[in-house]
Amino acid sequence: MHLKTLTVRGFKSFASATTFDFEPGVTAVVGPNGSGKSNVVDALAWVMGEQGAKSLRGGKMEDVIFAGTSGRAALGRAHVSLTIDNADGALPIEYSEVTISRTLFRSGGSEYAINGRSCRLLDIQELLSDSGLGREMHVIVGQGQLDRILQATPEDRRGFIEEASGILKHRRRKEKTLRKLESVQANLDRLEDLTGEIQRQLTPLGRQARTARKAQRIQYDVRDARARLLADDLVAARAGMDTDQGASAQARQRRDELEKSAAALAERL
Ligand code: ATP
Repeated sequence: MHLKTLTVRGFKSFASATTFDFEPGVTAVVGPNGSGKSNVVDALAWVMGEQGAKSLRGGKMEDVIFAGTSGRAALGRAHVSLTIDNADGALPIEYSEVTISRTLFRSGGSEYAINGRSCRLLDIQELLSDSGLGREMHVIVGQGQLDRILQATPEDRRGFIEEASGILKHRRRKEKTLRKLESVQANLDRLEDLTGEIQRQLTPLGRQARTARKAQRIQYDVRDARARLLADDLVAARAGMDTDQGASAQARQRRDELEKSAAALAERL
């Protein structure tokens, strides 16, 4: 991974905007004691999300903002941006160059951005984590530590190399996965509780369902019986009507005959 440029403005001893262009390979920053060499490294750690003021050699995070000198007033904000060459696609983003930036205001607010678009710290951490960069991922070997590495036993050296080669990244992933597993386990436990509860409710529910089915069958039977009774009543009523109709026809015939004989008698009279 190649860090292309680093721009600092208002960060620690860098009051004016200062851009470092890093060529591929080894870069050395040379200067007298106290000239601000370590501040460049602090700026790198800071822009990649460092949250500990102590790791940045300060008491509180505000200490990273240019505090002023005899000839220059203090500034109200610190800004650092880092451009990473992403031609090899090491960072999971569709850009051949990625610029991450961080701004801190003396009033307390802070901003993060990826390629000029404001984002959350988490977005920067996630962007960098796959490449082994980011908070607690990359390894910055501080002053004096180089000596420790050179003098280290083979076991210690192995520890350093493991750390630098990104074992931490996998350890973090493992921790994250374990946390996820724990939450999945908690969900599973809850699910088991629910299944038990539902099963307990299922027994009376089954009984109720059987009773409901039986009640429905009885209702069908009652409806059929009523329909049959009604049909019988209908047949009987129709038969009665036919009989009544026969009787009234006979009565009408008899009346006609009587009227005829009455008419004949009247004529004779
Ligand atoms: P050494 O070689 O002694 O470790 P160095 O070159 O690494 O020194 P740094 O420790 O990076 O230097 O820088 C220290 C300088 O940065 C000091 O002069 C200090 O006053 C200045 N400095 C740190 N924080 C601020 C700040 N917030 N505002 C202004 N100057 C600051």
